[in-house]
Amino acid sequence: MAYSIPLSFPVFDGNESHNIQQAISTGQLATNGEFIEKFERKLGWKIKSHQAVALNSGTSALHLALLLLGVEAGDEVICQSFTFCASANPIVYLGATPVFVDSEEDTWNMSPELLEDAVLSRISLGKKPKAIVVVHLFGMPAKMKEIMEISERYDIPVLEDAAEAVGSTYMGRSCGALGKVGVFSFNGNKIITSGGGGALISTDAGMVEKAKYLSTQAREDLPYYQHLEIGYNYRMNNMAAGIGLAQLEKLDDCVAKRRIINQRYKLLFEGFPGIEFQPEVEESFSNFWLTTILINSQKTGFSNDHLRVKLFRAGIETRFLWKPLHLQPVFRGAPFYGGQVAENLFLKGLCLPSSESLSFESQQMIVGIFEKELGKVSRGGL
Ligand SMILES: *Cc1c(COP(=O)(O)O)cnc(C)c1O
Repeated sequence: MAYSIPLSFPVFDGNESHNIQQAISTGQLATNGEFIEKFERKLGWKIKSHQAVALNSGTSALHLALLLLGVEAGDEVICQSFTFCASANPIVYLGATPVFVDSEEDTWNMSPELLEDAVLSRISLGKKPKAIVVVHLFGMPAKMKEIMEISERYDIPVLEDAAEAVGSTYMGRSCGALGKVGVFSFNGNKIITSGGGGALISTDAGMVEKAKYLSTQAREDLPYYQHLEIGYNYRMNNMAAGIGLAQLEKLDDCVAKRRIINQRYKLLFEGFPGIEFQPEVEESFSNFWLTTILINSQKTGFSNDHLRVKLFRAGIETRFLWKPLHLQPVFRGAPFYGGQVAENLFLKGLCLPSSESLSFESQQMIVGIFEKELGKVSRGGL
């Protein structure tokens, strides 16, 4: 069904059409063309001191990043459990095993304490993890200071899955630029989009060059096709880069708008019993890609799923928070360190419509549906 209020909808009011037209008129639709480089330069400039490689998805960026960190078959890689499957799938593509770590309550992202427990435990089993995949979920930065301290103490590189955190910062620095290597997604429903696309960023020029090479079938620089390694067809195409470039030009504006939407929800839910927002700690600046809440059904009398169905019937799209990967059937048997934090977030949480074009009136209507359900329950209780 087409929702009258979707969860997250892109707005193309900049140079997107112009750039597509230009790509078509110059015949440069594939992995040649000016927009790819312009997109990379602009992204690198925004992140500061980092170089970027434009790829065809966030998932392929994660795959290449793990490959470049030296992950091989039989290795173990630590990964945040509370995330989308694409954070962990590339670990399996490489024949490695994910080791999942629970979240903490301040940011809903990887718990540094549990991360250290996991590292120590795996080392004591003789399996020192090859990498740590940290996720900035819904745009909210993870506790990177503590996580980087652990990374340095045990000499294990951090791969930041900043797929949802384009435009977010932590202690004034861009998410994705805090670890050894970072990854973004520009898929259709992310805060900015290139249709489908991703990027890998690093300060390590060798790594960036190697990512470019591997993403274009590992083709040697010769007049004929010569290959010394197995490569991938992972490069972003010029049309996508044209859209991505236009979107990148207005990233700051997109973040500002999503932050206003988050503030308005907080205002509209003020005094509402049993609703909690994803916290934003002092060091963090979230892009608020999605505004997410927890529903305490003992106080509201209704569950997240009850509200999801009510809103669905009114043409409003909401979504559960990510189901933790250690609870996914496909990852059954993978080691897990933690308790019930991510699980509880999943059981109580709901992502609210957060498109930059969402009007205040629509937000009032959404919160109105919550209020109606609350009223029903308390009347029933009297
Ligand atoms: C979207 C997303 C990805 C994957 O990005 P694609 O561009 O869709 O391949 C990876 N990790 C997280 C956390 C995501 O939300």
